[in-house]
Amino acid sequence: VDLSVKKLQDIVELLREAQHAWAFTGAGVSTESGIPDFRSANSGLWSEIDPMEVASVEGFLHDTPRFYEFWRWRFGILSQAKPNHTHHWLADLEQKELLQGVMTQNIDGLHRKSGSQAVYELHGCYEQGSCIQCQHPYTIEQIFERAQADGHPHCDQCSGLLKPNVTLFGESLPEAFYEAFVELGQCDLLLVLGTSLEVFPAAEMVPQVKHRGGRVVLINAEATGMDGLADVVVHNKLKDVIPALIEMV
Ligand SMILES: [Zn+2]
Repeated sequence: VDLSVKKLQDIVELLREAQHAWAFTGAGVSTESGIPDFRSANSGLWSEIDPMEVASVEGFLHDTPRFYEFWRWRFGILSQAKPNHTHHWLADLEQKELLQGVMTQNIDGLHRKSGSQAVYELHGCYEQGSCIQCQHPYTIEQIFERAQADGHPHCDQCSGLLKPNVTLFGESLPEAFYEAFVELGQCDLLLVLGTSLEVFPAAEMVPQVKHRGGRVVLINAEATGMDGLADVVVHNKLKDVIPALIEMV
């Protein structure tokens, strides 16, 4: 097993030394709150679905009712989910001024719900949506209401189609993404948690910090293509690592 006390001590020491540490989180953080990573198998009802059909701009435009059928299922899970040990730990580190905040690929809003103040949602958040034509804002509940009739939710202002504010494949990234990259210019420690670093350009965060001389800690259940860039690598589930770190910080 990979979980040595030495590695945990190294992580704590890096956190204490850093002036501008940020966390960078992915699906592995959310799965421990019971949110399935729909890009991997085992999503029950939807296990045989092609993510491109329900998570791409083409899929959204091509078959909007199917897109909303999927999102209604996913919304049921997201709205029930509660922050876990990792969310709470990061919020606590921020409060103790050992961490600047969190940059997340997750769209579930759980970092904010756990009390993290500085949160960059790199791929948006499911709770809000907007009209794709006039950008008028709607909550996800308002969108579902308007989708009830025929699966096509339309804008009250201009009758444009409504979309949740989550970044779909084939879509441009939100402002928060670019703001986060600017913020990384100061970052001297990136705590990478629960991501396989396969989604670009978000995964560019790691080489970005490394090339500027920053440190990288990587905790993920499986090996990633960027393990070689990290100063400390731990291959364990977060639920086996974070409680031990909580004891130490
Ligand atoms: Zn509109």
